Amino acid sequence: MATGVVYHPDCLLHDTGAHPETSGRLLAILAYLEKTGLRERLTFHEPGPAQEEALLWCHTNRHVETVRQACEKGGRAYLDPDTPVVPESWQAALLAAGGVMDGLGRIMSGEWVNGMALVRPPGHHATPVRPMGFCLFNNVAIGARYLQKRHGLRRVAIIDWDVHHGNGTQDIFYDDPSVFYLSTHLAHHYPGTGRADETGSGDGRGATHNIPLPHGCDTATFFREIEAGFRLVTAFNPEFILISAGFDSHRDDPLGGLSLTEADFARLTRMIMEIADSCCGGRVFSALEGGYNLSALSHSVAAHLEALAC
Ligand SMILES: [Zn+2]
Repeated sequence: MATGVVYHPDCLLHDTGAHPETSGRLLAILAYLEKTGLRERLTFHEPGPAQEEALLWCHTNRHVETVRQACEKGGRAYLDPDTPVVPESWQAALLAAGGVMDGLGRIMSGEWVNGMALVRPPGHHATPVRPMGFCLFNNVAIGARYLQKRHGLRRVAIIDWDVHHGNGTQDIFYDDPSVFYLSTHLAHHYPGTGRADETGSGDGRGATHNIPLPHGCDTATFFREIEAGFRLVTAFNPEFILISAGFDSHRDDPLGGLSLTEADFARLTRMIMEIADSCCGGRVFSALEGGYNLSALSHSVAAHLEALAC
């Protein structure tokens, strides 16, 4: 069975100017997959855009309109000091969210065993009420809701190994016991959330697990901590595992501060696949979040996809 990749060239048109989150990231990944021959072993698919209804599963109407109007302004507009948009960003954002749902649909239908969305803009900082931190809409969160609304799944797990805490994803599901959110991230780093005592509220209490890590955290400590988190994911018994795959937790990332390597991302991927094999027929899908050293990013994505395709 195939390992799939969703990718649409219009995601390159989200032109952020002089910014770490550029189209060069996707181009570097694609070039490296080509160069290593890995691309031939993957099934690429060009997705369609998300319908606006799907955006509203996770975001307020006002949030959606804020993004739309900023994009329509013409030129480059700023949703916050870190988050520029141009008119083409609207379509890119719909394709990023649509790409995640498209890949998930292919796994649910049995066409793909697992896969990844090579999309931008990223998503995990987008909260229910506002875009922020390079993110317009929360692609992974929309994907989790898609699995619930269109495929009737009851329990979805999201594992977020980006160096930054996925505050948006946490907010969207904070009181929701049906989506388990596990995040490893650098402590006291942007956006400032993700303390260990943030564990969910109301019915969602216990369905959020944050692992803030010290600067330069060694690999043994990282894996000991995340293995404890993985035991909670296994106990949650998800019917699908989504990964917010940020590769800015690589040791060479300019916006990071953790010390993971390509081999560590492969190991993480294999560990998550083992959980998925035991809980949910191997159903795993990742969406690209951060990762700003182009060499580290492309090598790490390749290591992750290589593991998925084995
Ligand atoms: Zn990040």
